[in-house]
Amino acid sequence: MAEVIAYVGLGSNLENPVDQVSKGLEALERLPRTRCLARSSLYTSPPMGPPGQPDYVNAVACLATGLSALELLEALMAVERTHGRLRDGTRWGPRTLDLDILLYGDARIDSPQLRVPHPGIPERPFVLYPLAEIAPGDLDLPGLGSLTGLKAGCPRGGLNRLEGGA
Ligand code: AMP
Repeated sequence: MAEVIAYVGLGSNLENPVDQVSKGLEALERLPRTRCLARSSLYTSPPMGPPGQPDYVNAVACLATGLSALELLEALMAVERTHGRLRDGTRWGPRTLDLDILLYGDARIDSPQLRVPHPGIPERPFVLYPLAEIAPGDLDLPGLGSLTGLKAGCPRGGLNRLEGGA
């Protein structure tokens, strides 16, 4: 299969989140049939889900992959498992490492296991700003419009770039 450019979002707010995200980025480089082309800085952001959680650390990576979208999803879930993520059913609850497929080439996928582009992108500064750091400004997100336009409609909020990020 020809390589596809995919963008993956990483987030953690438990058990040394900087370390979790840094190790997650390293794990992406070891995925089969996959090369990591770019990685954003690390960012901190206030939690989106239930109150009282620690802040998140986030980043975005750009991959060239020969994996299908579902193979990539399975590989990311395996990485999450090795980081000890427990799925206790709490939506947006704290997590050691969360990996999302943001974009998979120009694919639009809407299946029970996988939705691409990730539907949360437009309202998530912790995705849009790191993505803009490593993606072309005129990147078109299938069905969502240009990255520049999406960013213009999404204030940074409490998002901060960590000095000395990846
Ligand atoms: P979450 O707990 O928010 O990480 O959701 C994980 C579940 O979302 C997994 O079981 C996936 O099957 C599903 N999912 C749907 N679309 C995506 C996507 N673009 N990236 C990662 N997981 C996805």
